[in-house]
Amino acid sequence: MAILWRDAIAQHHVNLRAQGLWRERSLMSASQGGKSSINGQELVNFSSNDYLGLSQNPALVERGQQALAAYGVGSGASHLVCGHHSLHHQLEHSLAEFVGAERALLFSSGYMANLALAHALCNKGDLLLMDKLNHASLIDSAKLSGAIFKRYAHADTGHAERVMQNASFDRCLIASDGVFSMDGDIAPIEQLAGLSKANSGLLLIDDAHGFGVLGSEGRGALNCRGLSPSGDILLMATLGKAFGGYGAFVAGDEIFIDHLIQTARTYIYTTALPPLLSACALEALSIVKDGALQDKLSQNISHFKAVAHERKLSLMPSLTAIQPIVIGSNQAASSISQALRDSGFYVSAIRPPTVPKNTARLRVTLSASHSFEQIDALLSCLSMNLNVLAPTRIGLLDE
Ligand SMILES: *Cc1c(COP(=O)(O)O)cnc(C)c1O
Repeated sequence: MAILWRDAIAQHHVNLRAQGLWRERSLMSASQGGKSSINGQELVNFSSNDYLGLSQNPALVERGQQALAAYGVGSGASHLVCGHHSLHHQLEHSLAEFVGAERALLFSSGYMANLALAHALCNKGDLLLMDKLNHASLIDSAKLSGAIFKRYAHADTGHAERVMQNASFDRCLIASDGVFSMDGDIAPIEQLAGLSKANSGLLLIDDAHGFGVLGSEGRGALNCRGLSPSGDILLMATLGKAFGGYGAFVAGDEIFIDHLIQTARTYIYTTALPPLLSACALEALSIVKDGALQDKLSQNISHFKAVAHERKLSLMPSLTAIQPIVIGSNQAASSISQALRDSGFYVSAIRPPTVPKNTARLRVTLSASHSFEQIDALLSCLSMNLNVLAPTRIGLLDE
């Protein structure tokens, strides 16, 4: 007898709850100075990807308001119909110049940009080779593309090479996060570029978490490694993280960008971003280039790592604003997250399938908006709660 939809779904929910995997949203209102009002409680927010605090920056707000007054709320159509506003065009030029690419193309989000890329670029006989820990949007893009899809062990270029040698394919596209979103480490970009080049491949770097913060004036992870999105390298970056707004872009040689305009389905069949978001991104770009906020963020990262070390909290090998503390059990991670919340800090617990099984973690993200005092207070509260709620983890740490 057929199981009813509702029964099957309800059973799935029971299982999720039993495994500590039930997901809930927190209700946000105003944010300022590293603090957010979350579920009606004023908390220091250590979960946002707003690494430079630009989402609340007065200059961005003002530029957005001017554009709103001048151009209205929406773009009214897709880019190819009549939604490609002069502000979008200007932003594409500025972004391309900034990252050292011939061209850039705006997308409505990073998820949509990634979804389109593999599908637009790859044919059935091509190989898509990806890091095991790549973002879900890249994994989904591989499935959608119909290409041969293989993954290599995290950051293991030797393994990537062996996987490639054992596969038969026409052309190869290697795709990797620039900064891994749940671990905070930077991909072995130079080695991947070498491997790609040696096999006449294309390399795609998803720099959602590096763009705006790493490299010279925030040009991102490629720049950090002396590379730029040109030749056989493509860059995807979002405007929703360090840039404080919303949207994304792909940068690379003209031929690839032209090809995306012709073929990228999430570019062609969706409404263009509101022009005001391009105005905000242009303002963000000028602030990012100034470099002062990246300096403050770097100081906060160094301070966090030094104080965590003093407190014998072992961290992952991350030099970026993403500083996760692996707990292991889903329930313990959730309990510590809740205890931190009760003490005035918002640090979300990240659980499978976002991260591998038994590696549930507290994903601390730092921002230029945080003060040393806020960071010290978090680490004090964190050590205390780890001692009580995850004592075995503490044992692991002291090795
Ligand atoms: C956030 C993120 C995306 C998606 O970007 P959005 O603009 O938020 O859709 C893609 N890749 C990585 C690595 C990300 O962290």
